[in-house]
Amino acid sequence: MRLTLSIKAILNCFLIVPLTSIAQIQKVSQKLFDTIKLKEHVVTLASDSFQGRKPFTVGETRTVDYLVNQLTEIGVEPANNKSYLQPVTIVQTNYVSRTIDVQSRSGSLILENPKDYAIWTHNEDTMALLKNIPVVFVGYGLVAPEYKRNDYANVNVRGKIVLLLVNEEDQAGSFLQKGKPLTRYEQTEYKIAEAARQGALAFFLIFGRNSLPFPFEMLQEHSSGETIHRDRAEPAIGGGISREAFHKLLKASDMDSNIYMNASYSDFKPIELSLNFSTSIIAKSKYKTSSNVFGKITGSKYPDDVIVYSAHWDHLGIGKPDEKGDSIYNGANDNALGVAVILELARAFKNLKIKPARTIVFVFFTCEETRTPGSIWYVQHPVSSLKKTVANLNIDGFNRFGRTKDIVIHGTGNSTLEDDITVEVKKQGRYVSPDDPKDGFYFRSDQIRFANAGVPALFFSRGTDYINGGVAYEKTVKEKYWGYHTPNDQFNEGWRFDGTVEDMELLFNVGLRLANNRVWPQWKPQSQFRSIR
Ligand SMILES: [Zn+2]
Repeated sequence: MRLTLSIKAILNCFLIVPLTSIAQIQKVSQKLFDTIKLKEHVVTLASDSFQGRKPFTVGETRTVDYLVNQLTEIGVEPANNKSYLQPVTIVQTNYVSRTIDVQSRSGSLILENPKDYAIWTHNEDTMALLKNIPVVFVGYGLVAPEYKRNDYANVNVRGKIVLLLVNEEDQAGSFLQKGKPLTRYEQTEYKIAEAARQGALAFFLIFGRNSLPFPFEMLQEHSSGETIHRDRAEPAIGGGISREAFHKLLKASDMDSNIYMNASYSDFKPIELSLNFSTSIIAKSKYKTSSNVFGKITGSKYPDDVIVYSAHWDHLGIGKPDEKGDSIYNGANDNALGVAVILELARAFKNLKIKPARTIVFVFFTCEETRTPGSIWYVQHPVSSLKKTVANLNIDGFNRFGRTKDIVIHGTGNSTLEDDITVEVKKQGRYVSPDDPKDGFYFRSDQIRFANAGVPALFFSRGTDYINGGVAYEKTVKEKYWGYHTPNDQFNEGWRFDGTVEDMELLFNVGLRLANNRVWPQWKPQSQFRSIR
């Protein structure tokens, strides 16, 4: 009886019956969310027939059709007049050849593509040529007055090429914040835009094997063959080089390879290398259209106030085969599961007896795996103005290993949305684990586009303290079931949805609370995003 009442209470708007026992919540979540549907979505979206859901392939057509059918069936309204699609214009560049020639005092130095470097352009010309351009190492390429930091001080890089380190961490974590979380200055986009503001003709990011946001190997793979991008404020030519290649350049300039070490110190000074680069790129670019897919439930009282739930639908497609010869990157966790979760959250909201007071948008972004042009586009063309956008709740991967005692929120300490979800977590008798301040995950998926635009954004992640197996089980998970960005990210019958629905309930309740309130989530005083709102 009590259980029935609880479900009714949930369906009727507010979760007012305190839920204390985990067993009880378990049952409630499973009633609220259909685990069979969740599984169906994942199995379909991550099947070989969807070919890894790569934009501009048959995988996109199948995925987008599936999402439109599901949103129609669930019965939420199209968010773009009569359409569930938001067309996103993207530039796709295919390369014929790309080379860098390095001239040092002692002659020319051979760098090999793709072993030593990756290079790309967003010029739509078929040729991008630079001849004998001086090169400056600008450390981490930061201009951050609040941290009294200017890596471009006393140097003019106008008309030159800059080399800069990715990220902003050393062994101790963020050096800007002395071991505390990474700052928004660690974003590659920020660094590239800064290089453009400084007038650089081209930039090369220096990657290590373990560097964030990803290792050099991944950059090589992602930029081979084609690149996908949007017009933005950045130098026409960009690229990355490996640490090993950077060492070669330093050696050729008679410099100590330890100048890295100094780059994190505030008294770091940019260094002009005694060499020149010439680049040649032959490429064909064209404008193409991909799609974000979105539906909405219009708010009954405050239709202009919008809460955005999101997950990206795209993945890596067909690529380098693994040792078993599998070349389809199914992306079952990344992010078929996230998509499944948002679809079923949409259904739960649609099933509410009383419509939410504010509008709720459910959006599936394109091209997250290629520098997030889908969410950049959405933020530039939102359903309601960003001032009226209450919050973004984004997921990228989700729990599939069973129930956990905890959950992790990335980018801790940024917004009051974390307090909202903490209340819900406690109601479930669970706890919030701190994220690793060094992980930087907050900067790595679509939520960052909302945060950069000032909209409070929550990036929710699974817990690691399992009811069966505790934190030790996380190790097994990582060793046995991890397939991040490999063909091994596949659905298997070992997946468990009991933890999935329990976590979904948290997201549901946070959204519901925001939707039936006129509260505006805030950036916390210490948050670096506060000044933007
Ligand atoms: Zn992802």
